[in-house]
Amino acid sequence: MTELKGKVALVTGAAKGIGKAAAAKLAEEGVNIAVNYNSSKQEAEETVKYLKDLGIDSISCQADVGNLDQVTKMVDVVTDHFGQIDILVNNAGIIDDGLLLRMSDEAWARVINTNLNGTFYCSRAVLRTMVRSRWGRIINIGSVVGLRGNIGQTNYTASKAAINGFTFALAKEVATRNITVNTITPGYIHTDTVDVLSDKQKDTIMTWIPMARFGEVDDIAHMVAYLASEKAKYITGQIISVDGGMAI
Ligand code: NDP
Repeated sequence: MTELKGKVALVTGAAKGIGKAAAAKLAEEGVNIAVNYNSSKQEAEETVKYLKDLGIDSISCQADVGNLDQVTKMVDVVTDHFGQIDILVNNAGIIDDGLLLRMSDEAWARVINTNLNGTFYCSRAVLRTMVRSRWGRIINIGSVVGLRGNIGQTNYTASKAAINGFTFALAKEVATRNITVNTITPGYIHTDTVDVLSDKQKDTIMTWIPMARFGEVDDIAHMVAYLASEKAKYITGQIISVDGGMAI
């Protein structure tokens, strides 16, 4: 347990994958956790039980992060329960791949809405309580793809690159309030999304990664916990790659 004991984190998309690992790592530091989910109700409840067994308080909260009304209600519910939100991890994200020439308006809009608008809605909604308490951490999960692009992912790349710009601007806005804003850009991490790739796709991707292996969800979770901690109090507006060297 660290100086984070008793703080409250809202982690979006925390029922599984990177979000769940980040929630668990923060819980190990004594942080109480609101587990946001959109469709994975059962996994979210299992995550809450797992987190409570670590000795912290936790609730699940359903909201589509791309829906402003649902985000507003979720933040109200979490604030009513815990009294505050100190740490926001904007982790929820989707892909809907296709070459631009064949990309539908819906695929473009869905990815931008979830990944980018979701980050905007959640950040704005929690900022008021952070400003009031003069302490806060906003940690966005971007992607290496937002730094170097990827064929078939113009929508996803645009959403993740925009999060980098959002990070720079918001970090400047809130720096004097003792609120830091940073983005972690993972490379390829073992999760449901990556594990379904074909062997051929995995072989191609491996040639892009200097360390020649995929990362683990804990590689990202450790960075989330570090950025949330007092050790990282002078780090803001940064895009931090955790990618086995892929962005080099
Ligand atoms: P998963 O598919 O395992 O998890 C995605 C999570 O996002 C799910 O929990 C899902 O919730 C949630 N989510 C999706 N849409 C919404 C929404 N509209 N509202 C609320 N939650 C939503 O993915 P990962 O763990 O792999 O990805 C997590 C983040 O990391 C994403 O932002 C992704 O872009 C990023 N990333 C992942 C990489 C990887 O290699 N895995 C690489 C680079 C970045 P639910 O299931 O409840 O619908």
